[in-house]
Amino acid sequence: MSKTAAAAAISTKCSFTNGAAELLFFRVYTQRDLFADVSKERRAVVITIGNYVKPKSLEEAYELNQARSSRVMGGMMWMRLGNARVKTVIDLSGLGLDQIEDEGNVIRIGAMCTLRQIEQCEALKDLCGDGIAECVRHIVGVQFRNQATIGGSIYGRFGFSDVLTAFLALDTFVELYDGGTIRLSEFVNRKPDKDILLSVIVRKSKRKFRYASIRQTKTDFPVIACSVVTGMVHGKETWYFSVGARPMKAALLEKQWEIPADASEAMISDYAGQAASEFTYGSNMRGSAEYRRHLAEVLIRREMTSILAEER
Ligand SMILES: Cc1cc2nc3c(=O)[nH]c(=O)nc-3n(C[C@H](O)[C@H](O)[C@H](O)COP(=O)(O)OP(=O)(O)OC[C@H]3O[C@@H](n4cnc5c(N)ncnc54)[C@H](O)[C@@H]3O)c2cc1C
Repeated sequence: MSKTAAAAAISTKCSFTNGAAELLFFRVYTQRDLFADVSKERRAVVITIGNYVKPKSLEEAYELNQARSSRVMGGMMWMRLGNARVKTVIDLSGLGLDQIEDEGNVIRIGAMCTLRQIEQCEALKDLCGDGIAECVRHIVGVQFRNQATIGGSIYGRFGFSDVLTAFLALDTFVELYDGGTIRLSEFVNRKPDKDILLSVIVRKSKRKFRYASIRQTKTDFPVIACSVVTGMVHGKETWYFSVGARPMKAALLEKQWEIPADASEAMISDYAGQAASEFTYGSNMRGSAEYRRHLAEVLIRREMTSILAEER
């Protein structure tokens, strides 16, 4: 078999409709020579991996990850699209991080749980209604969501992330191997480091949750994503607004607003306008900053209206 034919036989090609990547070659570093011809011909985006390790303990995983050229792998759905040379890739799949546990006061989602597990989780449905399923339902397709993980989605802090936008508005914490348990709102603003995300913890606070996004086409990245949550916090009615895909990573706004359940449309519009105006927006190929601000106001108004209607 010629080098090119052999390379073609063992390489994996993936094409995506949402413009994230047209073509991908995923290969192992030790096969470099075999692939030399193909790389020259195609100039594809390539991740090159030297060693694959499946650690037996979290400690081992953390130690391995301290090397500059090591990377933890979640579902590899995003990472494999990058153009990087990774010496050691660390697979966390043998460490029991793939369960969602209802622990009474909290729901603990292991970092290796897939987006599909989250979409179908009854405990999250009881807590948040259809909001969590709604936040992942547009992400590519079921087969994709069966591989992409919550750990990769939250750790990545992607500017387009539906998942981050939704969980940020909830009473959410992240458990890190070295950094302990901290609020997601704190984690989101931290620079990426070499820690390992072990789980995402959602406190079962009595809150109402809504999630909505706008996409130009089905399965594309969102043009804007908004989450609204409300509940009593320290005896005060508190509203949380999270807006993502601005196109910057999601940000959180907290307001102690007492809004009557029978508030008029005009009143809700005023609140929604005020909330939307407190975020910053940017422009890209999917929309201008002004358009995004307008969409955020519309989505927030709809979500507030829906929550207030439930209270009547
Ligand atoms: C084509 C495409 C379309 C997408 N569309 C959307 C969309 O519309 N909305 C949306 O919200 N998301 C979207 N995503 C993102 C997707 O949902 C996942 O968030 C993404 O693939 C990362 O998850 P993963 O499990 O594949 O992580 P990986 O690709 O394996 O890892 C991503 C990053 O996180 C690190 N990492 C992974 N797990 C851990 C951990 N436990 N601790 C520390 N670091 C870790 C990795 O080292 C890497 O840097 C899209 C992705 C792709 C490829």
